[in-house]
Amino acid sequence: MSKSINADLQKQMEEMKTAGVYKTERILSTPQSPALGLADGQEVLNFCANNYLGLSNNPEVVKASQETMDRWGYGLSSVRFICGTQELHTQLEKAVSKFLGMEDTILYSSCFDANGGVFEPLLGEDSAIISDELNHASIIDGVRLSKARRYRYKHSNMEQLEEMLKDCQDAKYRMIVTDGVFSMDGDIALLPQICDLAEKYDALVMVDDSHATGYLGKTGRGTHEHCGVQGRVDIITTTFGKALGGASGGCLSASKEIVQFLRQKSRPYLFSNTLAPAVAGGVLKVMEMLSSSSALCEKVMANTTRFHKGMSEAGFDLKPMETAIVPVMVYDEPLAVKMADMLLKEGIYVIGFTYPVVPMGTARIRVQISAAHTDEQIDTAISAFVKVGKELKVIK
Ligand SMILES: *Cc1c(COP(=O)(O)O)cnc(C)c1O
Repeated sequence: MSKSINADLQKQMEEMKTAGVYKTERILSTPQSPALGLADGQEVLNFCANNYLGLSNNPEVVKASQETMDRWGYGLSSVRFICGTQELHTQLEKAVSKFLGMEDTILYSSCFDANGGVFEPLLGEDSAIISDELNHASIIDGVRLSKARRYRYKHSNMEQLEEMLKDCQDAKYRMIVTDGVFSMDGDIALLPQICDLAEKYDALVMVDDSHATGYLGKTGRGTHEHCGVQGRVDIITTTFGKALGGASGGCLSASKEIVQFLRQKSRPYLFSNTLAPAVAGGVLKVMEMLSSSSALCEKVMANTTRFHKGMSEAGFDLKPMETAIVPVMVYDEPLAVKMADMLLKEGIYVIGFTYPVVPMGTARIRVQISAAHTDEQIDTAISAFVKVGKELKVIK
């Protein structure tokens, strides 16, 4: 037994605490919902979940999940290719393909795994991957596992992307990879331009749509629908852990050949357990709900408009509204943390994001809106922001 590593880790964590980057986990005493209980008994309004459609504790979804367990059991104790595939899993793959408008879909335990398992099998050292600098950590890690040449362009900088595409014309395959919605600013990838460039320079396009699937676009299909580029994106990865009920799990949708090949070669798929039946059944229900009505995705955007308008009128510095992520810019690092603490005391649960999660000097409170928020809850949040904002002189 080594004692020295424990002492060393302790020291590093003390340094993290001093630097204000040590993360603590707040214990909830209720299911995920716009109105939450915390373990200390406080009741708060939640504005920091990825529960965009408010389905995390939706009774229909819970019931479908329970019924799935009754019919299909609790667990599979197997990977897919040994004895871990039930009708349920192939049904879900079909439903997701139809929803996203792609040929086929492969399920993973998480979107992190989907991103971890896509690059290495498809792109070898004769190929190139071109990635937005603000892409999610799971894309960065996935790219690292591949032997392909790597490029990273400044966030949404299309001139630089074009230069990189020119630079790798000798590669066998080129792939542009981007988040659909960037989680810290809530901005949307420039997919029309990206798809144009991909066509001009013969590149594949991959979009990780975790922060968009289910609510962005007219019928909630995601960023490709929002941007009018359906049919021009080669690969979509996404999560079931956000708008689509928020349990867990992820997937990749693409041509049937890409999906078939990944079933043979993608390591997180081959060597990690099947998605639990209860989760597959829950997501199937969500797919059914979203396919028959766009009411929830309209609601989350209407709610976001209400919040954004109220906050702008109160004088807060906001990014332009593109998605249900509304960053309230504070800039000063300690001030953002203090503001989030004071908002919690007012019953509004939000998080201050500071360096290194966002660039130095761009600290903010990231607010996330849900279709399940009521007008009253949104107005209560705005009032609390105004009160705290004035006290801290963030607004006049
Ligand atoms: C949340 C997120 C993920 C991770 O999804 P999990 O299913 O929780 O692993 C991956 N990519 C992006 C862009 C995300 O926002």
